[in-house]
Amino acid sequence: MAMTCQEVRAYLEAYLDRELPIRETLEVDAHLTFCMQCQWIQAKEREFRALLRTRLRREAAPETLAARIRHGIRGLERRSRWQSIRRGLRWAPLPLALAAGLLLAVHLADRREPPKPDPARALAADLVRKHVTYSQVEEPAEVVSSDRLQLAGWFRDRVRFDVPVPDFSPSGIRLLGGRLSDLGDRPVAYLFYAKGRQLLSLYAFPRRELDLPEGGWTEVNGERYFLTQSQGHAVVLWGRGETLFALVSLLPQEELLDCALTLSRLLPRT
Ligand SMILES: [Zn+2]
Repeated sequence: MAMTCQEVRAYLEAYLDRELPIRETLEVDAHLTFCMQCQWIQAKEREFRALLRTRLRREAAPETLAARIRHGIRGLERRSRWQSIRRGLRWAPLPLALAAGLLLAVHLADRREPPKPDPARALAADLVRKHVTYSQVEEPAEVVSSDRLQLAGWFRDRVRFDVPVPDFSPSGIRLLGGRLSDLGDRPVAYLFYAKGRQLLSLYAFPRRELDLPEGGWTEVNGERYFLTQSQGHAVVLWGRGETLFALVSLLPQEELLDCALTLSRLLPRT
């Protein structure tokens, strides 16, 4: 029986590590020959691993530490990976963080927990994980530019939804660039900003069938924002039409909310 996308994605981490048994490897291969979405996720995953490897190599001392941690954790993971896959794909592995040295500790902790029932908090945790991963990378942007029009044009050629590129410079927040990423099977437009040395991530992605909770929203200027914290990071999440937006940073939550309001003013009313 052919593998589903969900199975392929659960196997992807082991597949890329060449730890998958031959039969499953062939099934993943077969799926990847026709499924564009899984191909895309796989390509992004490889690209991201390469990026992290470059970074780890540049830091000679932490490399040794990272290698030791990686080795230790891999042992544990190998034991748990099959169990978790066998348990019926209860939670998909988080392949991106695998090569990220210390991030592995977080990765492993996630695995031990059952999946969070609250979709907005689970989403916030995913976005923070991405933010943390990218802030480890020296040059996280795929396209480095502080030109808002150029970035908006770059996204227009690549994703089907509108990606507004707001100007946060009155708040001392400068634009660094953008990249394409993904959240599960959703394409994500990702904008990097910084205030001083503090990275601020702005995500835009299609809402599709994503369920957000009814409660826990804060209303400002007639619009609802979901404010939360994950791993010490502030997260602001909101939607307009068919697009969801999220801001993640170690900056104070009020500053993020300010940015959210600035962006909301740019968007057409629905
Ligand atoms: Zn697929």
